Amino acid sequence: MPELPEVETIRRGLQRKIKNKQIKDIVINVDKIVKKPYLEEFITKIKGKKIKEIDRRGKYIIIHLDSRNKLIVHLGMTGLLIYPYNENSEEITEGKIKAKHNHLVFTFTDDTQLVFNDVRRFGKIFLVSNIDEVGSIAKLGIEPLEDYFTEEVFIQVLNKKKNSKIKSFLMKQEFITGLGNIYANEVLYRSNIHPLRPVFSLNKKEIKNLYQQIKLVLGEAVKLRGSTVADEAYRDTDGEKGKFAKNLQIYARKGEPCIKCGHSIEVVRIESRSSFICPQCQKL
Ligand SMILES: [Zn+2]
Repeated sequence: MPELPEVETIRRGLQRKIKNKQIKDIVINVDKIVKKPYLEEFITKIKGKKIKEIDRRGKYIIIHLDSRNKLIVHLGMTGLLIYPYNENSEEITEGKIKAKHNHLVFTFTDDTQLVFNDVRRFGKIFLVSNIDEVGSIAKLGIEPLEDYFTEEVFIQVLNKKKNSKIKSFLMKQEFITGLGNIYANEVLYRSNIHPLRPVFSLNKKEIKNLYQQIKLVLGEAVKLRGSTVADEAYRDTDGEKGKFAKNLQIYARKGEPCIKCGHSIEVVRIESRSSFICPQCQKL
């Protein structure tokens, strides 16, 4: 699933490429992707509108239209926004993007196209006048790459859920938003913290380390345009892979030696997700 670095990369790509474009037409091939409002209203309210700014909140992309309505996109597990979409797109993505998964196609007045492609079909699109109309956005917590996310703020948020296990805490979007399975694994390993440690058991030094690693790992991953891991699902708006996967030190490295101590990396299931750990560096 795209996490903060991947969604931010897509946001930046859209901001650079589709800002000020006017939507001429929209074709919806899979109705269920549009969650709000009804299809007819969705189409009427979008046709002819211009794209203003493109923002992000957590893992949501927020496209501001000149009507003051906002088009909100959640990429789900495998959603992609490809621009400009054309006959070369399938080739660029080594066949990963197939036209049969183009669920939504925007055509702009310059006849270029933006496509929402989603193999697994968990993606969602909303058109709203106020972003808080999308319930899950209203509940989102802190943006970890914003300046207001200080170590002090991190401690305050940790105190809200002291009995939680640290990995599930990091992945809950209502506290800190943007971390999913890949980056939660990564920041915990780099801070030498076992994913099942309760929040209250973390000492000052561990909290400081974890705070710094969240900023560092997410920041570096954004710079390298996100992670395209083994499932190959993630692509940026050009259809290109992210380049951070090779820098992942623990995620999907089962059986490889830990770069800190040499012990073999193990995988444990936590809340039905794979957690990669070094049992020597991350003790319970
Ligand atoms: Zn180790």
